[in-house]
Amino acid sequence: MADAVREARLGVQFGATEHFMCRCGETHLFDGYVLAHWDIELSHTCSCGRGHTFKKGIVVALKPTPAKKKVSENA
Ligand SMILES: [Zn+2]
Repeated sequence: MADAVREARLGVQFGATEHFMCRCGETHLFDGYVLAHWDIELSHTCSCGRGHTFKKGIVVALKPTPAKKKVSENA
């Protein structure tokens, strides 16, 4: 039985093999790089643009989803 996936909120701690959920609903699993650097702060950016910073599985910082600009950027 899989545990319910929890949203990555400030101060919430996740286990190394646990998925975390972005506010947008997308779920993520820590990759090998994160597990190898578990003791330092690591930032993850969801595809929606929201950033999560983890340290030892604890959410220590959040970066809000960037405001959607009016489409005016030329790639
Ligand atoms: Zn997201």
